[in-house]
Amino acid sequence: MHPMVKPALRRGWRDLNTVQFGMTPAHAMTLGPMDMATGSFLDLLNGTRGLELLREEGRRMDLPDGHVDGLVRGLAEAGLLDDARGGGPAADALRRKKEVLDRLRPDLASLSLATSAPGDAIGRLAARRSQRVQVRGAGRVGAVLAALLAGASVGEVDVRDVGRVEPWDVAPGGLPAESVGDRRDEAARRAVRRAAPDRPPRRTAAQASPEEGDPGFSLVIIAPRDDVAVHAPDPSAAEPLMSSGTPHLYAGVVEGTGVVGPLVLPGETGCAGCLHESRADRDPAWSRLVAQWRSGRQRQVRPCDLTLATTVAGLAAAHALAFLDGRAPSSAGARWEVSVPALHWHARPVWPHPACPCAAAERGKGVHLSEDGASHETMAVQRPSEQCREAEAERPAGTWRAHV
Ligand SMILES: [Zn+2]
Repeated sequence: MHPMVKPALRRGWRDLNTVQFGMTPAHAMTLGPMDMATGSFLDLLNGTRGLELLREEGRRMDLPDGHVDGLVRGLAEAGLLDDARGGGPAADALRRKKEVLDRLRPDLASLSLATSAPGDAIGRLAARRSQRVQVRGAGRVGAVLAALLAGASVGEVDVRDVGRVEPWDVAPGGLPAESVGDRRDEAARRAVRRAAPDRPPRRTAAQASPEEGDPGFSLVIIAPRDDVAVHAPDPSAAEPLMSSGTPHLYAGVVEGTGVVGPLVLPGETGCAGCLHESRADRDPAWSRLVAQWRSGRQRQVRPCDLTLATTVAGLAAAHALAFLDGRAPSSAGARWEVSVPALHWHARPVWPHPACPCAAAERGKGVHLSEDGASHETMAVQRPSEQCREAEAERPAGTWRAHV
C-alpha cells in the first residue's frame, strides 16, 4: 500500500487542531483533534511512499510509536485515503497506459469522492472498460450520450437506430455535420470511437458468442428520437428487457421538457408499466390520449432544444455511470424533469404499481441502501451533510450484473 490522502479534496485548518477535507457539503468532512506535526505529516501521504518508509519518516519527526499506522488507519476508515498502487490487476493495466489514464485523471479524482476504500476509485474506473452498454436512439440525445459513456471509459457502447442522419440530428459531441446522409447507427458508432480514450478491450470467446445471438448488456439506455416514446414509454417495447432482467434507463426530450429516468431495475423499481398505470389512475383520459399520440402521423421536425438535449445526455450518462460503478443513482424509481425556460430540475417518483406485471410493488421498498458507518477510535470524523451519506449509498454488489 502506498497511502495517498485523496488529492481531490482541498485541505484547510478550521482551527488549531481540526482539519477540514473538501469544500462542498456533499463530500467535505472534518478530522480532529490533530496536532501540527501530524498535520504536516499528511503532506508525506502522497502516494510516493510505502508504509515502511512512512514509519521511518514518522520516527524522524518524533511522532510516537504506532502513530503513523493509526493515522493511516483513521484516514482510511474516514474514506479519505487512496492507494497509489491499489485497485487490482485491471487497475495496474490501466496505470501502464499512461496516455489513457491522463485523459481520465479528472474522472478518476471524481470517482475517488464516491468511493471509500483505498484503491477503489481506479478499480472502478478500470472496471468500466469491461462494461457493455447499449444506447437505443441516435439523435441529439442518444448520440451525445453514447459518446460521453465511451469518453468516460465504458468499454463497449453499442448504438442502435434506423435511417439516415438528418441535418437536425447534428449536435456538438454527437453526430457531426459531415455525417448528414450517412447511416445513423454507423455515424453514431464513429462518434463513439472518436470519443473513447482507448480502443475497446478485446472480447473473450464466451462474450463473443452469446446465446441467441443477442449479447447481454450491463445497461440499456432508451433515448428515443420520437417525443411520444419519451413522454409515454411503451411498456411492451421494454418487455424483453424486463423478462431478461436487464437494467434500463430512459432519457429524452419531449416538447420543451428534458427527461432522465426512471432507471429500471426489473422487479425492484418502478418500470414503464408502473409509470403508465399510475398515470392512468390519476388521469382517466391518459390511455385515450396516448393512443392518439402514437397513431398520429407526425412529419414535422419535433422540438428539441440543443442545450436541453445536451443537458439530458450529460445527466443521463452520469446516472448510467453511477449505476455501472455500483451506486444507486436517484433515477432509480424517479424521473428527473427540466423544462425551458425556467430550467428548475425536479424529480417525479415512479412508484412500483400493484397492477403492473413487473411485480416491483410486491418486492416492497426497492433497492436497499446501506450506509458506510465510518468511525475511528481516536479521531472524530464529522460529515457536515446528510447528502454525503446519500453519495456513499452503495448498491448490493453484483445484484444487477448478471448480464455482464
Ligand atoms: Zn412495473
